[in-house]
Amino acid sequence: MTQRKLKTYVTGYPRIGEDRELKKVIERFWEQREGLDSVTRISKDLRIRHWQDQKARGIDFISSNDFSLYDSMLDMAVLFNAIPERFRHIEDDHERYFAMARGTGDAVAMEMTKWFNTNYHYIVPELSGNMDLELRPAKAFSEFNEAAEVGINTKINLIGPVTFLALSKRVDGNEDALDLMPAFLPLYVSLLRSISELGDEVFVQFEEPIVVRDPDNKILECLKTAYETLARAVPRVRLIVTTYFDHATEAVEALRDVHLFAMGLDLVCGPENLLALDRLNGKKLIAGMIDGRNIWKNDYQRSLSTLQALEHALQPEDIILSTSCSLLHVPYSLTQEIGLDPEIRPWMSFAREKLMELSDISDIHSGNGTPGNPEKLETNQRIIRDRQCSLRIHDPAVRRRSRSITQRVREGSFAERAMAQSKVLELPLLPTTTIGSFPQTDSLRKLRQDLKKGAISGDEYALRIRNHIDSCIEFQERIGLDVLVHGEPERNDMVEYFGEQLSGFAFTQNGWVQSYGTRCVKPPVIYGDINRRGSMTVDVISYAQSRTRKPVKGILTGPVTILNWSFVRDDIERSDVCEQIALVIRDEIEDLQHVGIGIVQVDEAAFKEGYPLRREKRDRYERWAVKCFQLAVSSARMTTQVHMHMCYSDFTDIIQTIERMDADVLAIETSRSGNRLLKVFNDRGYSNNIGPGVYDIHSPRVPSVHELTDKIRQLLQALPASRVWINPDCGLKTRKWAEVSPSLRNMVTATRAVRRHLAES
Ligand code: GLN
Ligand code: ZN
Repeated sequence: MTQRKLKTYVTGYPRIGEDRELKKVIERFWEQREGLDSVTRISKDLRIRHWQDQKARGIDFISSNDFSLYDSMLDMAVLFNAIPERFRHIEDDHERYFAMARGTGDAVAMEMTKWFNTNYHYIVPELSGNMDLELRPAKAFSEFNEAAEVGINTKINLIGPVTFLALSKRVDGNEDALDLMPAFLPLYVSLLRSISELGDEVFVQFEEPIVVRDPDNKILECLKTAYETLARAVPRVRLIVTTYFDHATEAVEALRDVHLFAMGLDLVCGPENLLALDRLNGKKLIAGMIDGRNIWKNDYQRSLSTLQALEHALQPEDIILSTSCSLLHVPYSLTQEIGLDPEIRPWMSFAREKLMELSDISDIHSGNGTPGNPEKLETNQRIIRDRQCSLRIHDPAVRRRSRSITQRVREGSFAERAMAQSKVLELPLLPTTTIGSFPQTDSLRKLRQDLKKGAISGDEYALRIRNHIDSCIEFQERIGLDVLVHGEPERNDMVEYFGEQLSGFAFTQNGWVQSYGTRCVKPPVIYGDINRRGSMTVDVISYAQSRTRKPVKGILTGPVTILNWSFVRDDIERSDVCEQIALVIRDEIEDLQHVGIGIVQVDEAAFKEGYPLRREKRDRYERWAVKCFQLAVSSARMTTQVHMHMCYSDFTDIIQTIERMDADVLAIETSRSGNRLLKVFNDRGYSNNIGPGVYDIHSPRVPSVHELTDKIRQLLQALPASRVWINPDCGLKTRKWAEVSPSLRNMVTATRAVRRHLAES
C-alpha cells in the first residue's frame, strides 16, 4: 500500500565547512590577511552548498539562519541590538561583532559557556532593564532570501524567547533575566510580523532546549505566555517549538492549549517524550529520531517500529521525521574518511549521511514504489548486524576482566595514606608543582608531523623528545619547583594520545566539530572493547625521573574525560565503556609504580560535561563516574600520591562527589574566581589536599611576585597551609616559554616568601 510521503526535517546543519573553510577565512580576516569580502563570499558559498546538500536528499524542512560567523546566541543578542556598553563605540558591525566574541583593547570579551551538556560553547548575552533594544533582523532576512533565490523555501531558525533570556545574564544587579520578558516579547512579535510578510507559508523554528533542564513553574509559565502571545499576534506564521537533549514532557503539557504548527521532541535522548504525545493536541510532531549527537548509523528497522508506535498515538500526517537536534554536533561527511578501517566505516554516519537516512526511512516507510526500497532496508540491516557480530568490537579478555575485578577502590583512608606518603615524599610546606604540559612549540608540532609523515625515524623522534624532556627537567630544577613533570611533549591532545594506543578507538582525518567560534575539535570514536597494547606513558615519565632526584609526577587522562570527549559506541552502556577505560588507566598506574614513580595525576577536565540535564538521571551518572575514577586509581599503593586535576572553579554543586573521588591532592582552577568558591571546601569539611591555581594560564600576562604572594596569603585565609599546594590553573601547553618561565619563577619566589613568613610567625 502506498502511503502519503513522510516529511523530513533537519533541526540545523553544521556551518564551519567540510574543510573548515569558514574557520580558515575568519582567522585570516582576524589576522588582516584577507578582507571582509572573502568572509562574505565564502559564507555565502557554504550556505548555498549546505542548502543544496539537503535539497538533493529531499529534505522537506531546511533551515536558514542556522549559519553564524561565531555563534547563534550572539547573533540573537545582535538581532535585538543588545550590545554591552563597552562595545557600543565600535562603529563597524563586523568589528563590533567579533569584539564582543573575543574582546578588544580593554573591553573584555563576553562570557562564553557550554551549550547544555555539549562541547559547543555559546556567548552569554549581557542584558539590563534599561537597554536600547531595537530590531536588527537583516541577517535572518537576507539568509532566507538567499535560499529563496536558489529555490528553497526555508524555515527560519531562531532561539526562542525563554531559552534566550534564561541563558542570558543580567548586568544591572537584578537576578533573573527572565524578568525581561515584557521587554523582549514585543520585539519577538514584531519580528514575526515582518517575517509573516516574506510569504504565504513561512515557518519559524524557535529553539527552546531550556525546557528539558528540570523546568520550574516560572519557566513553564513564561513559555506558555510567550507562545500564546506569539501565536495569537501573528497567526499567519507557522510556529515550531523545538526541544532537544532530553525529554520535554512538562513543556508539552504547558503548551497543550497553545496553537502551534508543531513541536520538536528528541526521541533519542528523551524517549520519555513518547508518554506526552497525547498532549500535543493537534500540533504536528517533529520526531527527533536520527541521532544528532553521535555518529552511528541509524537502525532503520527500529526507526520503522518507532514510527509505527507513533502512528498509534497520532495521525500519520502529523508526524515529521527529524534529526534529534542540530547536526552541528557531528562532523560533515564520511566521504573524506578514506583512512578509516573499512570494516568500521560503514557503521558510521555523519551529517550528510544522516540526510540520506532521513530520506531512506521516509521512502521505505511510505513504500512509495521507489525501486530499491527493499534493498535499502536490507543493506542497512546487514550493516547493523555486521556491527553487532563483529569480532572487532568484542574482546572476550576485556569482558572476562570486567567480571573478575575484586578490588575497586584503593587501600587506606586519606589520613593513613597521607601519613605513609609524607614519609617517602619529604615535601616542604606549600609544595610547588605544575599541571603537566609545557609550551607546545612549533618545533614540537613539526617533530610529531615529521614522524607521522615518515620524514624521521622512530629512534630519531624518541631522541628529540628526550632532549625536550631534559630541558624541561633542567628548567624546573633551576627555578626550584618541588614536584616536577616531564612536560607532555609527546602528546598532541590529552585524549587522542591515549586513544591512539588503545584498541577499540578509531580516529578520523577530517571529523571536525565546532567547539566555539572558529575552534573545532576532532573527537575520537570508541567503537569496541578497550584494551591496552602496552604501557602508554612509562618510557617518557621514567626517563624524566631518571634525570632528577626530585619526584616526577606521572600525568594521565582520566577515564571519564576520555569518555566524555569521544563519540562513544551506543551498543553498550556508557558506564561499561568507562569501566573499560578505567581498567587500562589502572594498569598504567601499576606500571608507573613499578618503575618507581611515586606521584600520579589523573586529569578529569571533562567530568562535568557528562552530567545529564535531568536531576533524576544525574545521580546515576555521578555514581558510575565516581566508581570509574576510583577503579582507575585503585592500583595506587598507600605511598603513591594521587593528584586529580579539574579545570573548574565552581565546586559548589559537586563537592560531595569530589569527596568521594578521594584524591590525595585536588588541583583546580581558582585564579579568576578568588577565594569565594574555595570556602566551600572548608565549609563542607573537605579534608584532603588542594592545589588552587594561583594564576590564570589562559592569559599571556605574567603575574608579579607581589601579586602571587598576595594570592597565596589569601588562599591561606580559606585553607590551612598544611593542606595547600601551589600550582598554576591548568596546563601550560598553549603558552609561550617567554611567559611560562618568568611566571613560574615568580610563583616559586612568592611561595618561598610565604613559607619564610609562616616559619617566622
Ligand atoms: N595535564 C594536562 C595539561 O597540563 C591537563 C590539561 C587540562 O586539564 N585541560 O595540559
Ligand atoms: Zn585543566
